[in-house]
Amino acid sequence: MNQRSRSTPAAEPRLSAATPFDDLGVAVSCLEPLAHHTWLGIGGAAEFFCEPVDVEALARVVKRCHEKNIPLRVIGGGSNVLVPGAGFAGMVVRLSAPSFCGIHVESPVIRVGAGAKLVHVVSAAVQAGLSGLETLVDVPGTIGGALVGNAGGHGGDIGERVADVTVMLGDGTLEVRERARLAFEARWSNLDDCTIIGCRLDLDEEDPALLTKRMQKQWIVGRSAQPSGTRSVAMMFKDPLGTTAESLVSQAGARDLRAGDAAVYAPHANFVVAGPHCSDDDVRTLVETVRARVREKLGIELTPQIEVW
Ligand SMILES: Cc1cc2nc3c(=O)[nH]c(=O)nc-3n(C[C@H](O)[C@H](O)[C@H](O)COP(=O)(O)OP(=O)(O)OC[C@H]3O[C@@H](n4cnc5c(N)ncnc54)[C@H](O)[C@@H]3O)c2cc1C
Repeated sequence: MNQRSRSTPAAEPRLSAATPFDDLGVAVSCLEPLAHHTWLGIGGAAEFFCEPVDVEALARVVKRCHEKNIPLRVIGGGSNVLVPGAGFAGMVVRLSAPSFCGIHVESPVIRVGAGAKLVHVVSAAVQAGLSGLETLVDVPGTIGGALVGNAGGHGGDIGERVADVTVMLGDGTLEVRERARLAFEARWSNLDDCTIIGCRLDLDEEDPALLTKRMQKQWIVGRSAQPSGTRSVAMMFKDPLGTTAESLVSQAGARDLRAGDAAVYAPHANFVVAGPHCSDDDVRTLVETVRARVREKLGIELTPQIEVW
């Protein structure tokens, strides 16, 4: 699966209330359950967790992690991560404060914070008569997550519209990465080495009424292709060039596979649904079993979409 190369030991309860972040003026919690922050609702706790109030507070946390060699992850909407039961030994940051969620229309450009929900950004663009994002209206998550994974579908992806991205480096400094330094491919970008603060999206001016209709149509079509009635879901595989993962899973006869309390969502077979007793192992086993079935029956190697922390 799409696993980060660095392996981290499991989070363990801390004996002391003191943390390496106590002098930073940032509220840091210990052993925050990450299941609350992910769509699948699975997984253990983060050793440290915080929601910095602004970019200066974030810089202090990022710098401290860098100095003390503490692994750092950012969680966006949690719609594309699988957290191991052992949790995450390190700091998890969530950019939920208003200063990270701004949406500023400067037609034909829109400047957005990494914590803004993608659906809000799409709606703001459409309202302002700016086109280019409406096919993304049904993709869950934040701008940060969308940039890291170049979120999109058959109607296009976010990378096509990115003018520049502001990132924070390990020493807490900000850097603007212009378009020429950015690489976007199918469900991948080269923004995996930094904390994303925000970006500017270059859009086209169009009639807001027409755009609204197009966005609503995409919303209906997109949502009807997702599992309904549960949020405990994740997309399993990236679509290979020229076909869909869903059709390959179906052709391979893997629609009704399950592992423990994880099951393929039969009506839309590229999703895994987690039952109430599902573990991260169940999800991992199911994804690998489906992948092996597609390989065996069709000779095609699917690439997992969901990222294991
Ligand atoms: C029902 C459903 C439908 C979906 N449909 C689509 C679809 O049509 N197209 C598609 O592309 N995807 C789809 N996905 C997958 C997922 O929604 C996207 O990958 C989405 O862009 C993830 O955003 P997020 O904010 O939830 O990211 P998260 O899951 O929180 O994080 C994903 C990765 O981004 C990193 N990250 C997040 N924010 C930042 C930041 N500010 N700085 C640095 N790193 C950051 C995380 O550390 C992690 O590595 C779907 C998922 C579900 C559950």
